[in-house]
Amino acid sequence: NTPGGPKVSEEKILVTVRLRPLSHKEQAAYDLIAWECKDEKTIVSRNLYHDRHTGPYTFDKVFDPVCSTQKVYEDGARDVALSALNGINSTIFAYGQTSSGKTFTMRGITENAVKDIYEHIKNTMEKEFVLKLSALEIYNETVVDLLNRDSGSLRLLDDPEKGTIVEKLTEEVVTDDQHLRHLIDICEAQRQVGETSLNDKSSRSHQIIRLTIESTLRETSGRVRSFLASLSLVDLAGSERASQTNADGTRLKEGSHINRSLLTLTTVIRKLSGGKRSGHIPYRDSKLTRILQSSLGGNARTAIICTMSPALSHVEQSRNTLLFATSAK
Ligand code: ADP
Ligand code: MG
Repeated sequence: NTPGGPKVSEEKILVTVRLRPLSHKEQAAYDLIAWECKDEKTIVSRNLYHDRHTGPYTFDKVFDPVCSTQKVYEDGARDVALSALNGINSTIFAYGQTSSGKTFTMRGITENAVKDIYEHIKNTMEKEFVLKLSALEIYNETVVDLLNRDSGSLRLLDDPEKGTIVEKLTEEVVTDDQHLRHLIDICEAQRQVGETSLNDKSSRSHQIIRLTIESTLRETSGRVRSFLASLSLVDLAGSERASQTNADGTRLKEGSHINRSLLTLTTVIRKLSGGKRSGHIPYRDSKLTRILQSSLGGNARTAIICTMSPALSHVEQSRNTLLFATSAK
């Protein structure tokens, strides 16, 4: 917490799980609900079949299918989002299998975070703020600028001061909250490009929207203090790309299905949460983790929202998600 900044809790990694409702398709197929929230921190499998691992699984919070995205934001992301206003780099991820609700959740989280950040800026007279937005997509370890697709595949460079930077990435200065929403809409539209021609692209690509917040505080003594931090909002590739098993639990034949960035990220998170911050953390093994390095570990704060289908037909992938979430704690 900094003078004039929002008051937030200071836990490093916040891990929550969100269950979406059964989809129409799942209902039409007479799928069953395999999971339920036992209390506000615990999720259990409903024992519909013989199961070796029924839980309970406990996290910072769990959100049932009727829970609003606003509630998910407040309990699962707000403190991390507002930390960026205190000069602390923060990252919010949605992790889960394809169609579990990552994009749905991140859109709502982004909307709530933008509203909250501008609310705070409006109420903080003693500070001046400059916000900038950049957005990129990582597909097959290729980085593309979502605010300027024409620049093609972007290179990562190592800056001795700033760490890894994305060469030629557009950084738009944001004038107000409406402008920010407009820029996010552009990224959203850009992300759809190629979606129809490339088979299941959205399950393979990662999207990062990064908001850089620079704030200047003029103290009564006349001393000027500046804070610089970023908030990264990340919609990850489907988590089935981090595991070697199919939805039905059978082993996959091909390794090519594995997504290097996602797999490296899970390793990095596991190491960071294991309290072994001093040991080797393989940030450099993928584009995603290189780009996020300064926003993970160290002083940074992270919120991981794991999204899950409640359906029995997805139970193996959902269990993988819960195992990842447990390892991130
Ligand atoms: P993912 O990005 O993980 O592949 P989506 O966010 O696209 O999944 O969600 C799949 C479908 O489920 C979408 O039609 C979305 O609108 C719907 N959905 C996801 N989460 C919820 C929720 N919590 N409440 C209602 N509908 C949801
Ligand atoms: Mg998606």
